[in-house]
Order: sequence, then structure tokens, then C-alpha cells
Amino acid sequence: MRSFDAVLEAELAELAILDRRRACPEVDGLSRTMVTVAGQRRLSFCSNDYLGLADHPALATAASAAAHRDGFGASASRLVSGDLPAHRQLEQALARFLGREAALLFPSGYQTNIGVLTALAGPDDVIVSDALNHASIIDGCRLSRARILVYPHADGEAAARLLAQTRTARRRLLVTESLFSMNGDAAPLAPLAEAAHAHDAILVVDEAHALGVLGPQGRGLCAAAGIVPDVLIGTLGKALAAAGGFAAGSRGLRELLVNRARSFIFTTALPPPVAAAALAALEIIDSSEGERRRALLRAHADRLAAQLTALRPDTRGTPPGTAPGSPIQPFVVGTDAAALALSAALGRQQIFVPAIRPPTVPPGSARLRITLSAAHHPGDLDRLLLALRPLE
Ligand code: PLP
Repeated sequence: MRSFDAVLEAELAELAILDRRRACPEVDGLSRTMVTVAGQRRLSFCSNDYLGLADHPALATAASAAAHRDGFGASASRLVSGDLPAHRQLEQALARFLGREAALLFPSGYQTNIGVLTALAGPDDVIVSDALNHASIIDGCRLSRARILVYPHADGEAAARLLAQTRTARRRLLVTESLFSMNGDAAPLAPLAEAAHAHDAILVVDEAHALGVLGPQGRGLCAAAGIVPDVLIGTLGKALAAAGGFAAGSRGLRELLVNRARSFIFTTALPPPVAAAALAALEIIDSSEGERRRALLRAHADRLAAQLTALRPDTRGTPPGTAPGSPIQPFVVGTDAAALALSAALGRQQIFVPAIRPPTVPPGSARLRITLSAAHHPGDLDRLLLALRPLE
């Protein structure tokens, strides 16, 4: 029998042959837009710190105060002795911000999707899910043991048809992202809400990438579309520049999740300084400073979207039309090797945009996922566009 290490090496070698072996780039740097990667200075276009809040002093101050008040670690799960003031304050603020009765924190957005989907759906149920939903939604669907029906990306009519065909299920869930993480395009939220309503299904919308950035005062794309999903999921790790996730909805939803969501119950609560930093970020998002940051980001997004459309030849993968103001701007290349080569070529020009390959995106649609931040300067975009042009 081969040694365990030899088995691992063989599997890693297979990934390498497919251009799918990954490694974590070693990043240093105070600012999220200017970093060093393995010792080399790079202008970064790949963080999810869309509003440039990760190094905002208000977040560090709030975190430090919470560490002194509540301790650094929560030291227990919420249901034991880890339910601390920083958690309660943040949940109340998130619920208020979103105009919902209640919110419940989870240690990450990933765990939020796992917890919500497994708490709400079981073997007698059906989950109707967008083909490009995030891995955390896919994993939540699978763990729930519900029957999973996948509809073509952003096809509201197909989702409605699947709901119509599954009337005998005990319960039906319709789940989508609002702003898709790898395409930067938006779900057809109004038709999806209509379909969920017509077929008596529970609508779950993951606003991970829209919250803080899009919609009225950064309240997300559901607010922009005027719809109220049964469950709104968010992360605190992107525009809120902290870590953690949450589900918002009715008081009954919160109560059920507290009792049924295993990724909430069987895990240590979020560190209080992290919750306090997220609360400070939420206060900025809901202020004139938040508006100013969103306006800067919007200007960058509009400019980059127009320029990328002009740059992208027809032969590349289907260019997904990004949502207006999307901080996520994919540059679809096609093969994994081509995406890696383009990323390396940008690296030689001191620009950091890693290649995104399957399984994160469908095979044949490897890409550069360019993300923008209010912390970028117009000159940073000039540099990126200049670097992309000769690579055509
Ligand atoms: N949902 C979506 C749509 C995401 O893109 C991500 C990204 O990481 C998550 C959930 C997970 O959030 P977190 O990073 O907080 O675990």
C-alpha cells in the first residue's frame, strides 16, 4: 500500500496537470488596495472590502473597546454563555437597518447558509436553486437532504416552473444570491419573489455582495427591488470589513434558527471585537460617509464596466452583464491556463488579480474576478486598464 503522503501527492499532481492546484498567496500590507504578495508590491483588485473600511480607525477603536468590555473570544456558543452585548447590539442594528423584526449572527456567511438551509429544509422538501449559487448555498442544500432542483442562471420563469411542478412537497424553498459573486450580475428578484409568493415557497436571498454597496443607503438589492424575502442572508466579511454572517427576517425565523441551525448551535460565538467592528462599519454605511464611499465606488464601477466591455473580444467566454454599480467585474478568459497566464502577466506589471478557476466557476469560464473598492483612486483604474490593453 502506498504511504498516505504518496496518495496526497498523486492527488495534488492531478490538480496541477489540470491547472487547478491552488495555493494561498502570502499577502502583507496595511491597505487593502496596495499590498505585498510574496514580498512584491502590488496594486490589488481582489479584496471584497468594497467600501474601503477594513483599515478604518472607527472599526479598530470599536473592536478594542469591545475586547476590553466583553473579552476577545466569546468563550462559548451563544446558547451556553457566549451571548454577549456586542452580539445583541449588532443583531438589533442589522434588523433595524434592514427594516426586519430580527437578525441572528453566525460565525461566517458560509455557516449562515448552511444553518439556514438545513434548519428550514429536510428530506421531504424541495429546494429550487440558481445554477450559479455560491458553494455555501450548494453545500447547505446538500446537507439539508432536500430534493434539489437547479434552474438555469437568473431564469425566473424556469424557477417558477420548477415550483409549479413540486406542489406535493412538504415545503419548498427558492434560494438565490442577489448580486452574484463571480459574475457581478443581479438575480431577477421581483419575478422570483412573485413566483415564491404564487407557489407558497419560502424565498431565501443571499445579499453577501450587495449589502452596504447597492440599493437605497446600501440596504441591498431586495430593498432596491422593493421585495421582502422570508430570509435575507448577509455576510459581515465583505463591505462590512469584519467577519461573520447573519440571517434577517421575522422573530419566528430567528427563534427557529436558534433552535435548529446546527452551525449556530454547535460553534463558538463570534468574537465580540469582530461584532463591534461590524457594528461600527454598519454605522458608517448608514451615514453620509457611507454615501460618499458608495458614490466613489459607483464611479469606479461605471468606468470599469464600460472599458471592459470595449476590451473584451467576442471569442472570450459569455460576458455576463454586470449589475449597475457592481463592484465585481469579471474578465472571462476561458481556459484555466489562459486565466493563470493573464493573472501572471498582470503580476509582472505589479497588479494583483488572481485567476478564478473551476470549481469556483463553471469549466471553460476561468476568469479574472476584478473587484473594486472605494479606496481605489482613479489612477489605479488607469493602471489596470493600461495593463489589460496590450494583453488582448
Ligand atoms: N454567500 C456568498 C454569495 C458569497 O459569495 C460568500 C463568499 O465568501 C459567502 C456567502 C460566504 O461568506 P463568508 O465569507 O462570510 O463565509
